[in-house]
Amino acid sequence: MERDRLQISVVVPCFNEAGSIEELHRRVSRVCEDCASGHEIVIVDDGSTDESWSVLRRIAGTDPRVVLVRLSRNHGHQLALSAGLDICRGERVLILDADLQDPPELLPDMMRLMDAGAQVVYGRRRSRSSESGFKRVTASAFYRLLNRLVEIEIPADAGDFRLMSRKALNMLRHMPERHRFVRGMVTWIGLTQVPLDYDRDPRFAGETKYPVTKMVRLAFDAITGFSTQPLRIASHLGIMFSLLAFAGILYALYSWYETNTVSGWTSLMVVVLLLGAIQLFVLGILGAYLGRVVAESKRRPLYFIDEIVSGDVTDTNGYAGPVAPEDVRSAGSQT
Ligand code: UDP
Ligand code: MG
Repeated sequence: MERDRLQISVVVPCFNEAGSIEELHRRVSRVCEDCASGHEIVIVDDGSTDESWSVLRRIAGTDPRVVLVRLSRNHGHQLALSAGLDICRGERVLILDADLQDPPELLPDMMRLMDAGAQVVYGRRRSRSSESGFKRVTASAFYRLLNRLVEIEIPADAGDFRLMSRKALNMLRHMPERHRFVRGMVTWIGLTQVPLDYDRDPRFAGETKYPVTKMVRLAFDAITGFSTQPLRIASHLGIMFSLLAFAGILYALYSWYETNTVSGWTSLMVVVLLLGAIQLFVLGILGAYLGRVVAESKRRPLYFIDEIVSGDVTDTNGYAGPVAPEDVRSAGSQT
């Protein structure tokens, strides 16, 4: 039996967000009821270790429009998001963080821009005053670097908060890579993408789930995913240092001829250390790409789903993603 078409799916990756979930559900439900003719809220529990899952179960028990997906462990924000995007069925998809830093109340404005022809409406942060100075400085430096390296223009002050059409989502779902930088992948698609400026709120509850290590990992995935420019740094450095070495040899021969001396420990150390450092740096770049080639060649599933809850149906068969909505939700849609 075909269900009514859903106009909106709200996809929310969630990792240890027990404190925000109820408020999230309240605010998202209210805005969706106001501006959409049918909605679902797909919440992906990315292996939370707090009470998130029991809070989610309680909410799903009272609201059949909530669909829960529980991953088998913490797969990371970008994969949790990808799982939600695979499973949702709406004509339009709103990507939202669980911590309510991005106000769901912007949905009507985003819908209007999409009615006017946009395929993607992405939130652009007017101010980041709610975030730490460290995060702001590193993020701005990172996007400047990224946009020098990649040939597409990845919007600087944007996160994953955005409204996408089914068309754009279908295209995104054809990108199979494992190291995912979803906002860059969406930009890479093309189509009409328009920004919507907004002010980012502070977190509703809890701490950031993006420590520096995860931020660095995301940055590496972004750069290696969208540019092979760093590989070329190796050859540029090679040429530069060959020229320097040539000059150095001439100088060494000259001073040997002129002064007949063997002193020069300092210059020797400088050269050795410098060359060593450069070589390690270049090897590191090669390693970063090689590691990703290895990961891709294994062709493992992007994520595993432990459990799906939709209405009063709980499916614990276990799935490996990417999954098609009909694979995993047929049980739910028969109710
Ligand atoms: N998140 C996730 N898995 C993770 C880390 C984060 O699903 O391993 C979720 C988190 O619950 C939140 C969103 O990703 O809904 C963004 O994380 P956070 O708000 O901590 O990042 P920040 O806004 O500080 O950059
Ligand atoms: Mg946040």
